[in-house]
This record gives sequence, structure tokens and C-alpha cells, in this order.
Amino acid sequence: MTPAPPPAIGPAAPAPVADIVVIGAGVVGTAIARELSRYDLSIVVVDAATDVGTGTTKANTAILHTGFDAAPGSLESRLLRRGSALLNDYAARAGIPVERTGALLVAWTEEQCQALPGIEDKARQNGYTAIRPLSAAGLYQREPHLGPGALAGLEIPDESVICPWTTPLAYATEAVHAGVRLQLGSPVTGVRTGAGEHAVATARGAVRGRWLVNAAGLGGDVIDAMMGGGGFTIRPRRGELIVFDKLARPLLGSILLPVPTAQTKGVLVAPTVYGNVLLGPTAEDIGDRSDTDTTAAGLAGLLEAGRRIVPDLAGEQVTATYAGLRAATEHRDYQIRVDPGLHYACVAGIRSTGLSASLGIAEYVVDQLGGAGLPLAERGGIAGPPVMPYIGEAGTRPYQDAGRIAADPEYGRIVCHCERVTRGEIRDALASTVPPADTGGLRRRTRAMNGRCQGFFCAAAVSAMMAAAQRPAGGRPADAPGHAGEHPSPELGRLA
Ligand SMILES: Cc1cc2nc3c(=O)[nH]c(=O)nc-3n(C[C@H](O)[C@H](O)[C@H](O)COP(=O)(O)OP(=O)(O)OC[C@H]3O[C@@H](n4cnc5c(N)ncnc54)[C@H](O)[C@@H]3O)c2cc1C
Repeated sequence: MTPAPPPAIGPAAPAPVADIVVIGAGVVGTAIARELSRYDLSIVVVDAATDVGTGTTKANTAILHTGFDAAPGSLESRLLRRGSALLNDYAARAGIPVERTGALLVAWTEEQCQALPGIEDKARQNGYTAIRPLSAAGLYQREPHLGPGALAGLEIPDESVICPWTTPLAYATEAVHAGVRLQLGSPVTGVRTGAGEHAVATARGAVRGRWLVNAAGLGGDVIDAMMGGGGFTIRPRRGELIVFDKLARPLLGSILLPVPTAQTKGVLVAPTVYGNVLLGPTAEDIGDRSDTDTTAAGLAGLLEAGRRIVPDLAGEQVTATYAGLRAATEHRDYQIRVDPGLHYACVAGIRSTGLSASLGIAEYVVDQLGGAGLPLAERGGIAGPPVMPYIGEAGTRPYQDAGRIAADPEYGRIVCHCERVTRGEIRDALASTVPPADTGGLRRRTRAMNGRCQGFFCAAAVSAMMAAAQRPAGGRPADAPGHAGEHPSPELGRLA
């Protein structure tokens, strides 16, 4: 049976022509939609995928960068610095897991040592002044498991790790609460512009808007070409990563960075907010925009680098491997431009820092759109960030919260024992404003099935809960004939 397309999420279809259509529901598109939702505008977000944040947004290194090593004077530097400050504040209010672990940048050769003063200087040019040099002794004092041979380093105390999954979900949730409509499962196949509007052709019919924002990530140049652009080409750069088991977490306190090169930030070792350790990413230019496979060579190279940085990692279990694709272009900087005549914003080439910079990018793009003539009248009664379910390891999870369990015993019933995810959390995710379309979406909302057994023990129970939630009252499965697209309301995702 062909699965039904997901229902649109948010209010019933707006007036036939929306004020603005955003293509792309990654961290950048959802951040822009959220920022736009502060104004009196009708907004539709369209994405090919059946969930938000399933592109590059879901598979990265999850560092909330300070921007210390960005190219000074670039748009990326400016928006990264601003975005990082905004996201730190937003995350605290929305319950997005962030841990301010700090980072140590380690030089292993004399040549790398000589690069350190330049990196320090660059950080200051980028407005980041808390960076400070560390001796080899200082490095080992901070990180006793660091491999032998480190010569010197730099400390960047404000680098943090963040949950890359909760972030776009929080933006999308806030946007939907403010009236934005999410139309998922709708690949854009063409744009026809005329008579003061854009008709965006999707597999589920046309979406019309007076203004258009292209936040299509790896598809950014394809959409831009539909709008007559052509100033850049996306050249996907694959990054493979290895996730180590939670038992590896005590091996490091901070993010361990290499000295970057002109091509890449290099292979790092970092804690995750879920209590694991990440090793990666690689940097490989590839031709296929959908090739997120890991490779034997890539993983072997990472393990070798990891053995040097933290030798004890070699004895730790690998929980998972994955790869993400950076939307690199032939240009070093972000490709952001607003065309006032065309009523069009291109927000592309957001390569390796878009998670951290997302709120800075959104603020900048909306400001530019206002300057180009988009009417920005503030709405009253803005509710602010939603409080998202907390899935980090540093705070209190529902299974640890006696008061919460007493009030609702479902928070005491663990389904995923590796990640300690309860029935209450899965139930809540399935009933949330932006519900998951599949078990992958449920993983990103709850951590269920993300542990060392990768769902071996709990997948059946989790899938059963999901199937029950997707079965509408009356018992017919959501994808049965007659149900496709009939439920333009988030209620579809609720547990009966
Ligand atoms: C290995 C790696 C490590 C990284 N590490 C970090 C990090 O530590 N910190 C950090 O800040 N950043 C990091 N990044 C970068 C960050 O992940 C990206 O900059 C960010 O996720 C880009 O978000 P986006 O919304 O632009 O793109 P995406 O998340 O890819 O979203 C684009 C969306 O557009 C949709 N789309 C595309 N074409 C169409 C179409 N024709 N019709 C409809 N929809 C379409 C896609 O389905 C997708 O959902 C890393 C990236 C990689 C690959």
C-alpha cells in the first residue's frame, strides 16, 4: 500500500495566496518561518520530506559554535556570532539541551603550533575574546585521556554541544502555534512567477505566495535556478561520523578540536548532549546529493584519527555511524540575497555552521525582506518559545522525576531501556504539535531506539504505540484508502 502523504500541520489552508512561502523545513527554513511568524503574515512552509529537520539538520556534529574561527568580515562570521548568542538564549527558554563544555583546540605538530597565534587573532577579529592559550601541561590537566604528543593548544570556553533535533522542532512548533502552516511530503518541482505571485508546484498541488524564501539546503541551487538564479552550485561535502557508547563519555570533558585547514575544520572528538561521544566528521566532495552512506574507508580513517586524539576510545563500543552532507558551494561564504523586484530570498550555501547560525540567519533574512518591501507589522499576543520535552542527559529526564511519575505513572514506565525513554514521553511526542511521521521522527523527539541496542529490544513496543496513535478513531489505519490527506489537522497524530 502506498503510504498516505502526511497531513498539513497548522491552521486550515490559508487564503489561496499566502503572503510568503518558505521552501525547506530544515533548521534554517523553520528558523525563518518562526521569525516571520512574529508578523501579521500568512506563511506556508513546504518540504519534500515528511518531517521537519530531516536533511543536513539531522546529521551533523551538533556543536553550538561561537564562530571564533569563521572568516573575519564574512556574512557567516556575523550571523554565526549573532545566531549563537540568540540560540543560547532561546535554547534555555525552550528546553533545548545545550551543554557548555568548552573546546580545546590541540596542536600536534610544530607547524600547527605556529598557527595558534593566528587562530587567536582571528577569534578576536570575529569578536570572540575569551579564547586563551594553553600549554601542553594545561591540556593534559584538563583532558587526562588526551593522546600523547600534544604540544600546545587554545581554550575556547564558550563552545557548546546542542541537540540538533529539538532545535528545528522548537522553531517549527513555535511557528505553527503562531499560525504558520507546514506542508510536508511536498517536493517542489517548479515555480511559476507572474501577476504578483509565485505558484510553487509540488507533488501535492500548487502553493501560491506573494513572496518566496528558498531555504532548500542541498536543493538550494535547484530552486534558485527555477527563480532565474545560477550564481552558485551546491557541491555536497560528505561528513561521516561515529557515535561511541555512553561508557566512553568520561573520557573527555570538552570538545577536542584539531587545528583547522583551509578545506575543513577537521576531525574532532566531542561529547553529545545524549551522553555519548562523537568522532568525526570526514570531509569528502561527492557528486550525489543523496548519498549519506558511510564508507569503510571513511570510518577507518576516523578510527585512526580517534586513536591519536583519545587512544582509549579504541576500547569503546560503537553505537552508531552516520553521514551528513554539507551544502558547500564554490564560494566560501553563505549565499544569501534578497531580490526586491522578484519578491524572492535565496538562503543557500549554509555549509557547516547553519545549526548555530540559524536564528542569526533568520533575523537577517527577515530584516532584508522588510527592506525589500515585505510588510512587517508585528502581531499582538506572541506566545514565545514552546517548552520542548527535554531529551538531554545533563538535566532531569521524566524517569528521574518522582513528582512527575506520581502525577502520571506513564513517565515511570520505561519502553527504551538503553536511553530510558518512557511511555509518557512517546505518547507526548505522538500527540505533539508537529508529530513524527515515522519511527525515525520518534527517535529524534524522544531518543527511543537510539541506544546501544539500536531498537533491538524496544522497536516492536515503540512501533505498536506509533501505529495505535496513527489509527484514527474508528480503527482504520491512517494510510487506508479514503484517508489520504483528509486530515489537515495535527489532531491526526494524537493518541486515541
Ligand atoms: C558533517 C556535518 C557536520 C556539521 N556540524 C555542524 C555543527 O557542529 N554545528 C553547526 O552549527 N552546523 C553544523 N553543520 C551544518 C548544519 O548542519 C547545516 O548548516 C544546517 O543543518 C543547514 O540547514 P538547512 O535548513 O539549510 O538545510 P537542511 O537541513 O538540509 O534543510 C533543507 C530542507 O529543504 C528540503 N528541500 C530540498 N529541496 C527541496 C525541494 N525541491 N522541495 C521541497 N523541499 C526541499 C529538504 O527536504 C530539507 O528538509 C554540519 C553539517 C554537516 C554535514
